[in-house]
Amino acid sequence: MKYAHKETGMTRFLDAADVAALVRSIGVSTAIMQMSDCVRQDFLRWPAFEKSARMASHSPLGVIELMPVSDGVQFAFKYVNGHPRNALHAMPTVMAFGMLAEVQTGFPLLLADLTLATALRTAAASTLAARAMARPGARTMALIGNGAQAEFQSLAFHASVGIDTIRAYDIDPHATARPMRNLAGVQGLKIVPARSVREALVGADIVTTVTADKTRATILTPDMIRPGMHLNAVGGDCPGKTELHVDILHRARIVVEYAPQSRIEGEIQQWPEAPVSELWEVLSGAAPGRTDADEVTIFDSVGFALEDYSALRWLHAAALAHHAGSFVELVAMPPDPRDLYGWLMTPDTVVFDDAKAAAVA
Ligand code: NAD
Repeated sequence: MKYAHKETGMTRFLDAADVAALVRSIGVSTAIMQMSDCVRQDFLRWPAFEKSARMASHSPLGVIELMPVSDGVQFAFKYVNGHPRNALHAMPTVMAFGMLAEVQTGFPLLLADLTLATALRTAAASTLAARAMARPGARTMALIGNGAQAEFQSLAFHASVGIDTIRAYDIDPHATARPMRNLAGVQGLKIVPARSVREALVGADIVTTVTADKTRATILTPDMIRPGMHLNAVGGDCPGKTELHVDILHRARIVVEYAPQSRIEGEIQQWPEAPVSELWEVLSGAAPGRTDADEVTIFDSVGFALEDYSALRWLHAAALAHHAGSFVELVAMPPDPRDLYGWLMTPDTVVFDDAKAAAVA
């Protein structure tokens, strides 16, 4: 039997700059498409995973969450926060890191920044749902909330759903200029600024809500919804934080990632007995994404640990292929595993040796 730690004794480490360099070299749209394949493959193996709702620690300004999952071969977890007012301190609303470990020994294989990967995997999951739920031929998407996730949602819907026009609105009048500038060079994708949610919705086949505010918001109200629209509701993702008026839910087909967690955190926290399908059922064909052209469909996304497992698995494979990152002695590995004390007292072994890490890389 081959154990990962016997090869190196070290854990691959991808810091934020390593992940950014890796994604830049692969290309953002390609990275999202590859991650989308990983998410799809993993959701199609749904019964193989040990799943639980995430553990969340709430405070008045935000939430810190731990998200574990395992398939009996690998174990993954993500640490992630959500602090909508962090921009006031020049910090992102969402920051994350995570780990992939081998179940046989518990050895940590990969420790990585997951802030960027969270944006990629969220966009990947949104488009997987939209491809199964939105009306075919959708070309215009309203994007409400033009913060850190905006460009990733836009690129993903352009590359894999065929969206060519994004109608963008944000309560911050300066916010929309950023994705317009960042995506100006993307062939075949036009971003049109809107002065209100209602204006953004004109002609929209798909509506993505990706706002950040720790409140029961009603970004969309029933009078704004036209037959056949697909709503990709991303920003309502913890208790007391929603984006849709509850009456929209009553008239729609709703798909969630993992029902036990979504009933606590998603739009459906407003309607506890809401009938829902899970994304894996829609992707596997066990449940329909849409039954007729006039149906209103909602992907009530909160983010589930399995998407982060997929992201870590993708990052690990990409890092191996591109020789990215470095190696760290994250956990003690005494030559005699039971002589932890002896290892501690041997000055030569407890030296932080950058050269050793470089040699392994
Ligand atoms: P961000 O803070 O960078 O951007 C949020 C934007 O929403 C800001 O530009 C803000 O001005 C705007 N906004 C706030 N209230 C609004 C309103 N009423 N109308 C229009 N715009 C409004 O945050 P982000 O990283 O882009 O994340 C956005 C949201 O998505 C957060 O709530 C986050 O928790 C959530 N999120 C969900 C998932 C998931 O898997 N479902 C993953 C990542 C982030």
